[in-house]
Amino acid sequence: MPRDRILILGGTRDAREIANALVESGRTVVTSIAGVTAQPLLPAGEVRIGGFGGVSGLKSYIESSQIALVIDATHPFAARMSAQAFEACRDCGVLLLRFSRAPWLAGEGDRWTVAAFAAEAASILPPGARVLLTSGRKDLDPFFARTDVWGLARMIEEPPLSPPCNWTILRERPPFTILGERALMSRNAITHLVTKNAGGSATEAKLQAARELGIPVVMIARPAKPEVASFGTLDTLMVVVEGVLSP
Ligand code: NAP
Repeated sequence: MPRDRILILGGTRDAREIANALVESGRTVVTSIAGVTAQPLLPAGEVRIGGFGGVSGLKSYIESSQIALVIDATHPFAARMSAQAFEACRDCGVLLLRFSRAPWLAGEGDRWTVAAFAAEAASILPPGARVLLTSGRKDLDPFFARTDVWGLARMIEEPPLSPPCNWTILRERPPFTILGERALMSRNAITHLVTKNAGGSATEAKLQAARELGIPVVMIARPAKPEVASFGTLDTLMVVVEGVLSP
């Protein structure tokens, strides 16, 4: 079997778009997703679901599946998978590229406080705050430990732990609109928005809504990932992939 398959590490809309474009251009693609979402949206091409079993598992997969190129298109906060991909590709001598959407930047009228991690973000909230928390289902503990705030925690899947009575879970899947976000914040008298700096347009509306309503934002900064060649648009990534894989 020729070594010509592309492994996309996915779990994001970006990964689906990359897979769809590569399949369209005639490439053989397998997208890997972690399997944490109950009804994931699937891309074109082959899909495999579930962890690899750490670096050694990923190395075995790369070798046995004739992978010629790995594209890390995981979420900017999926730091462990990116680190494992870096190690596995280095050890296997396989090229690793990353798709990384641009982070959000504070604009005029924004009132951002940047936190390095979730616990710091939770500690920044003043007593009595009414919080919209959109950081997903991980790292909820420091927020749920805040008994002196009221909170609405939005996520796609059920949280791994039950919320205390001062927190409500809102299960919704992006994209969201500015109108909808503004209505949600107004209806719940939100005083603080807490979010991870995911970047991208699908969940950006909340920032515009917060800006319009004058609501302060606690922005959790992205975790560090290993240095690899990174691309922020589908077009540039496609050009590089064609250049790398064309004979
Ligand atoms: P993580 O902490 O970086 O990784 C945890 C473990 O999940 C990894 O060690 C790996 O297990 C497995 N895993 C992660 N991504 C995988 C993939 N694409 N294919 C196969 N296994 C994968 O990741 P996470 O933050 O829990 O995110 C899990 C998935 O959800 C990722 O695919 C990510 O793109 C997506 N996602 C994450 C966020 C977020 O905020 N973190 C938001 C939206 C989507 P093994 O060690 O067994 O290989």
